[in-house]
Amino acid sequence: MDKKTVDYLKDIVGENYVITELEQKFSYFYDETNYTGRPKANTDSIVVKPMHTIEISRIMKYANENNKIIVVRGGGTGLCGAAIPTKESIIISMERMNKVMEIDDKNMMAVLESGVTLARLLEELEKYNGICFPVHPGDESAHIGGMVATNAGGARAVRHGIIRNQIKGLEVVLPGGEVLNLGGKLLKDNSGYNIMNLIIGSEGTLAIITKVILRLYPEEHYSGTIAASFDNINDASSAVIEILKSGVSPLAVEYQDKHLYIKTAEYLGLHWPLDKGNADVIIILSEKSEEALYGDCEVIDSICDKYNANKAVFASTKQEQADLLTIRSASYDVLKDNIAHSFDMAVPPGDMPEFLGELCQLVDSYNTTTNIIAHIADGNVHNDIVMINGKVPEYAEELKEKMYRLCFKYGGTITGEHGIGKLRVKDLKLHKSSVEIELMKRIKKVFDPEGILNPGTVVEV
Ligand SMILES: Cc1cc2nc3c(=O)[nH]c(=O)nc-3n(C[C@H](O)[C@H](O)[C@H](O)COP(=O)(O)OP(=O)(O)OC[C@H]3O[C@@H](n4cnc5c(N)ncnc54)[C@H](O)[C@@H]3O)c2cc1C
Repeated sequence: MDKKTVDYLKDIVGENYVITELEQKFSYFYDETNYTGRPKANTDSIVVKPMHTIEISRIMKYANENNKIIVVRGGGTGLCGAAIPTKESIIISMERMNKVMEIDDKNMMAVLESGVTLARLLEELEKYNGICFPVHPGDESAHIGGMVATNAGGARAVRHGIIRNQIKGLEVVLPGGEVLNLGGKLLKDNSGYNIMNLIIGSEGTLAIITKVILRLYPEEHYSGTIAASFDNINDASSAVIEILKSGVSPLAVEYQDKHLYIKTAEYLGLHWPLDKGNADVIIILSEKSEEALYGDCEVIDSICDKYNANKAVFASTKQEQADLLTIRSASYDVLKDNIAHSFDMAVPPGDMPEFLGELCQLVDSYNTTTNIIAHIADGNVHNDIVMINGKVPEYAEELKEKMYRLCFKYGGTITGEHGIGKLRVKDLKLHKSSVEIELMKRIKKVFDPEGILNPGTVVEV
């Protein structure tokens, strides 16, 4: 990066917050995308750590006028390379904008700077007896701003929906440096086109999110987690559909092939409590009373019996429940070095048994295997194409396209929650019509006419 730019940035944020040394900036050059799929970072990029919206506004104005590329970085937990600077860029790291500005218990909303991590928000809410944020997209080091920019979904979207449903207001900085306040602590707002909703899920390509107003919920004090094992994926997914139809409203229903639960438990030094079967689900419940919680359990137990469950266990203590969720959450760490391509497809939830059955048949026809992890009640599947002898197999692209075509047959999408990023820009063309892609490109141009924000992400302009 040229000296004039480095000096100007130091002037804005202070000398200590402009990082130019390779050793110190290296960790900003990748995210959690698996190694084989990860785009290559341009290492001439530098890292800037502003603390105030006004600093971001000045940086954006400078970049816009001097043709400098900006890549915003949250927690770096993304899984599609969106935060990786593939051209020489100013990486704006939001880590210092980490204040919990307000917990408004009257309106049940939180006002947060965008660099607050999910872990920090959950810790803060522990202080407020009776208030919680139940949505849990997975990695707790993700920033709230990153979760908004990727429209994160996650395990606990079953009852409360995805992050988009929780966002009530945003402060954002446009590429020209203008600061916009969108939405507010409102449950209803129909004033004009909804620009806030365009920015949610825009992966750092339209604006930088600096503040977030988030909806909070009353805490339900009675929680429990059921783990149940089935002989096959068809029984497991059919049981889940029936549970949802029964009126029980779980916070989360997570599926994994059994061998993944077992391997991950071993890796963590924990124990997976179900030995028989091949297809296991965990169901997280939370209710206002003990009676309601046990009522849910009875309904789930009888549905599991109907679908030939081998065994079901109920975890009631906080530690037992946390252990089950930790085993679910860490499976990607166990798998990621052996992934040639990872998927995030979603289909209508009621079609999951047929879709998963056909997916397994397709993989069998290539004499290979796929690891299936699913937010099964949301119809969202994270499976993979596995490496063969440490290499990406030559059929990977062909199989990927066939998997997508199968997903489209069920009216599905190529990404339910992780986003397009830099990995799926070409794949988007398989999924969306040229008219829709053209509209996306025009929206990008309206927000960012000079094309300084995260180029090569979502759509190529
Ligand atoms: C083990 C594991 C489990 C996961 N489980 C889930 C899951 O269940 N559901 C799910 O949805 N995701 C999941 N993820 C993916 C990831 O956690 C989310 O995509 C997360 O929301 C990204 O937040 P981040 O702060 O890490 O963003 P980053 O990875 O830093 O950035 C992601 C994108 O957001 C942009 N961005 C970041 N901050 C801002 C900002 N302030 N303003 C504008 N743009 C910004 C970046 O430019 C980039 O385009 C998981 C990841 C891991 C590693």
